[in-house]
Amino acid sequence: MSPFVLFLAVMFSANQGSALQLTFPHEPGVKSVQVLWQNKTVPAFRLNNAWTTFVGVDLDTKAGDHKADVLFTMEDGRVDKRDIVVKVVEKKYPMTELKVDDRYVELSKANLERANRETKEMEAIYSTVTKDIVPDSPFTVPIPGGTGANFGHRRVFNGQPRAPHAGADLRATTGTPVHATNQGRVVLAKNLFFTGNTVILDHGLGIYSLYAHLSRIDVKRGDPVNNGQVVGLAGATGRVTGPHLHWGMRVQGARVDPFTLVTIAQTENLK
Ligand SMILES: [Zn+2]
Repeated sequence: MSPFVLFLAVMFSANQGSALQLTFPHEPGVKSVQVLWQNKTVPAFRLNNAWTTFVGVDLDTKAGDHKADVLFTMEDGRVDKRDIVVKVVEKKYPMTELKVDDRYVELSKANLERANRETKEMEAIYSTVTKDIVPDSPFTVPIPGGTGANFGHRRVFNGQPRAPHAGADLRATTGTPVHATNQGRVVLAKNLFFTGNTVILDHGLGIYSLYAHLSRIDVKRGDPVNNGQVVGLAGATGRVTGPHLHWGMRVQGARVDPFTLVTIAQTENLK
């Protein structure tokens, strides 16, 4: 009997805008495990006697059942493919109206070009799956004890609808230290039009964290960072209504509530 027979018809459940951890027991002869999810190939990594990875369910992923394939590559090269189903549950996000400096709503030609260029640069980062880094320690909140419940809010700036809020805003005074949510590598550390002084960390598996509106950046591109290392100080640079930390997480490009990575429920049903 195949050791993987238990995986058949396994169902996972996740809200729109959340990260999901998938864990599969290690079996003798398995060399590597990959998950095919939403047209992306996501590697799993070995953690004790299991294989684990994270997949992202974007804010705008259609509610309903989505199939994912799990590929078990054996030492002899054989690939054992199993289907799993991720049930995406609709989550309603409220609308918020914000008042910011007009230059962030009615963009000049130069600012529009800059913002578009920076968006492309960030999308290129988010679409890369790095294989030499793995987030094998728990994700943590960048400001210890910080809370922020405004992920996913549909936003209207100065009366004009804009993209939904792709992160969580944590209350912070200017100068509050901002800590890396997990170990990783700095892939961006500079000033951007909308997010001001910004740091993006690569945590591997297509998982990226973003820290925006910083008053000071303490790392540079290429630096390795430890979980909890200070990457900068909170501030009010870019499109803001006041000082705070905007903390974003992308999981294979999907916009997910950062707190879902911290509180992620380990999927026990496959063990
Ligand atoms: Zn924000």
